[in-house]
Amino acid sequence: MKYKYSLPPLPYSADALEPFIDTLTMEIHHNGHHKAYVDNLNTALENQIELQKKSLQDLLKDLNQISNTDLKNAIKNNAGGHYNHSMFWKIMKKNGGGSPKGKIGEAINKRFESFEKFREQFNIAAKKVFGSGWAWLVFNKSGDLEIISMPNQDNPLSEHKKPIFGLDVWEHAYYLKYTNKRVDYINAWWNVVNWEQIEENFKM
Ligand code: MN
Repeated sequence: MKYKYSLPPLPYSADALEPFIDTLTMEIHHNGHHKAYVDNLNTALENQIELQKKSLQDLLKDLNQISNTDLKNAIKNNAGGHYNHSMFWKIMKKNGGGSPKGKIGEAINKRFESFEKFREQFNIAAKKVFGSGWAWLVFNKSGDLEIISMPNQDNPLSEHKKPIFGLDVWEHAYYLKYTNKRVDYINAWWNVVNWEQIEENFKM
């Protein structure tokens, strides 16, 4: 993906993840929030000829090479927002959930003992995000699986970690249906997880 960026379509209809994620939330989240990140990223890159040549991933990896603080923040927030949401739509699906199979299932069991224990730890990371942010499963710098949380639209690539999947816990992701009950959203979310896509991300 390179400049100019465009909003990828949802890989399913906006009502596909009902009742766990409601249609209106999906519509506003995709066509409102995600679109704004794409538009703002394009605006930020308008006169940045060198940055326009970079892939979305490299923009995030090389964030600290940008000396202009305003530009750096605009890239961090909006390249991050675009990357994170493009990932997020794909790792959900209708009739998803269950426990992971394949290589990712093996790796989770090996690292976290069981899927149940992994989910418990991931939920804690998602719950404890103060304000807006994401919980992530990543490969850390040593190449081990690690659960982390990051604020805002910050992306693990900027910390030299490789993202496998993330859960959006910004209020815009759940407030219409779950109001202030983030925990209920987190618990419901496991019913729409697309483990086949996460397996792809894991192998990449
Ligand atoms: Mn979001």
